[in-house]
Amino acid sequence: QAKQQGKNRIRFYEENLTQSLVHRGQLESHLRHALQHEGLSVHYQPLQQLSSGRIAGFEALIRWTSSTLGVVSPASIIPLAEERGLIIPLGEWVLERSLRQIKRWRESMHDEVYVSVNVSALQFSQAGFVATVEGMLADAQLPGSALMLELTESSLVENIESSTQTINALRNLGVRVALDDFGTGYSSLSYLRQLPVDVLKIDRSFVQSIDDGGKAFVRAITTLAHDLRLTVVVEGIEEREQLEMLAELGCDLGQGFLIGRPAQAAEIERHYDLPIEVLVGE
Ligand code: C2E
Ligand code: MG
Ligand code: MG
Ligand code: MG
Repeated sequence: QAKQQGKNRIRFYEENLTQSLVHRGQLESHLRHALQHEGLSVHYQPLQQLSSGRIAGFEALIRWTSSTLGVVSPASIIPLAEERGLIIPLGEWVLERSLRQIKRWRESMHDEVYVSVNVSALQFSQAGFVATVEGMLADAQLPGSALMLELTESSLVENIESSTQTINALRNLGVRVALDDFGTGYSSLSYLRQLPVDVLKIDRSFVQSIDDGGKAFVRAITTLAHDLRLTVVVEGIEEREQLEMLAELGCDLGQGFLIGRPAQAAEIERHYDLPIEVLVGE
């Protein structure tokens, strides 16, 4: 009896495993298809200057609504793409699409607005990455200042020396580099001293706990960042009181549902009363 149960358990486990492999295989082929047939889209979330209320830029966030699978979140798309060798074409697609969009908004919104694009570790550590970015900026006829790249600490610290070289090469193009989700994971302040980044994005967990100790951390991180001449962005602002407190603490830019949810380009254009120019393929 017990033996039989054990066998059943193993069979059950194996079935699940096969199913999940089949599932991942299906997911992969759907993603490949979406990538090749304009099935993906990019949403944009405003980054607001807290002192003036001005929109400084937008973060580009990938979106995928599959006709068979429904909405698939970036938290599933990105690891899948990394695992199945799709992250390079996917990352390049997001970059290209975002640059085309910001080119238009530099004309219709204001001429310093920039787009901030998330970059996966695999993409960033690719040999030709800087050249690809340079080529894309040239194709879009944009200066490097139109682009910010968001990287997480974990993707940079594996090889600090080569990361530093890549960041410096990007900054020579005028591209800004941000450390995303700062304060999560195994962040060490010494990395901050070593990595020549321009921007620190304080993770939204600090905003969520702002009444509960988070404030002291935001204040300390902001003071340190400003001493190092870094710009401070705070993510995940959902309430007016949080926004006011963060502005008082001297944080430079804010991002969150209160300021604006990620939205498709046409919706942003309606919201900010811009001439609506729908991109081909949307
Ligand atoms: P992230 O770069 O930290 O992006 C911010 C995430 O917080 C986004 O989730 C955004 O929708 C969400 N968010 C913004 N404001 C608020 C708020 O006020 N409250 C709450 N609860 N959430 C807020 P999203 O779009 O699901 O993206 C998740 C993560 O997936 C991103 O985190 C980023 O690491 C990754 N990602 C998204 N798009 C791309 C991409 O094109 N390439 C790469 N490599 N990664 C991407
Ligand atoms: Mg980000
Ligand atoms: Mg973030
Ligand atoms: Mg995050």
